[in-house]
Amino acid sequence: MEFWIWLFAPRGMIDGILRGAGILALIVVSHWLIAITLFPDQTRSLSYYFWIPFLSGVHWTVLILTIISYLARARAQLEVLAQADGLTGLFNRKAFIERAEAAGRGRDITLLLIDADHFKKVNDTYGHQVGDMVLTAIADALRTNTREGDLIGRLGGEEFGVLLRQTTPNQAAQIARRLTGAVSVEGHGGLAVTLSVGAATAASAPDFKTLFQRADQALYRAKASGRARAEFWTYPDRPESGRVGSLVRV
Ligand code: GH3
Ligand code: MG
Ligand code: MG
Repeated sequence: MEFWIWLFAPRGMIDGILRGAGILALIVVSHWLIAITLFPDQTRSLSYYFWIPFLSGVHWTVLILTIISYLARARAQLEVLAQADGLTGLFNRKAFIERAEAAGRGRDITLLLIDADHFKKVNDTYGHQVGDMVLTAIADALRTNTREGDLIGRLGGEEFGVLLRQTTPNQAAQIARRLTGAVSVEGHGGLAVTLSVGAATAASAPDFKTLFQRADQALYRAKASGRARAEFWTYPDRPESGRVGSLVRV
């Protein structure tokens, strides 16, 4: 089915007309081949060889294009659903990690790991439904504080990941710091949740696994040293000095 979708699914109006013409031509030619193979001795008119298969072929072509377009749309929607987190609409863990891993290395890429502080208390005090509202508000705050090309994912529970692209370490530190501010939801007596952030620049890590570990280590430090703060695993200013990097509060 993949092959047929690839071959016939229209990618636009003109493309659809061209593919439709291709299908129609196939129908007319196959009719003609069948007719001359099975009944070689019979003389037939132009209407038998062309007009009848052409006119009935138009219906088949419309039907085939409609079904294939529907299947292509359904498949595209399934792909989006398979990559999305059901509650927040962000990328789910698998999709985020796959994309973040493919984003490459460099000094202008920073990974932020973000975890809501004392979130269990929110659930225990206000209920799971309010907890879900807070998670959605956190997702919105992440969208608001990042740019279009950045990646945002929900890694599980109340933990999120953001991959900042084309961002200097200084800018990334600013964003990380801004994110630690409280995220609130309407009502519920001014309920607000702070975030802890662990950050690492991709330049500080030889591969994605190490980058993730360093951001995680920074997040752990942010939690251990009081929460509602950001810790950054920085890249050394002079990499030739042999230093791998260091953790700093930002
Ligand atoms: P810390 O500051 O150390 O991160 O504490 P915490 O309470 O945020 O962390 P902990 O791991 O103890 O609790 C996380 C809670 O998140 C527990 C779990 O019930 C809740 N949680 C996980 N997924 C969801 C969800 O989808 N919806 C809601 N409402 N709660 C969730
Ligand atoms: Mg937490
Ligand atoms: Mg957690």
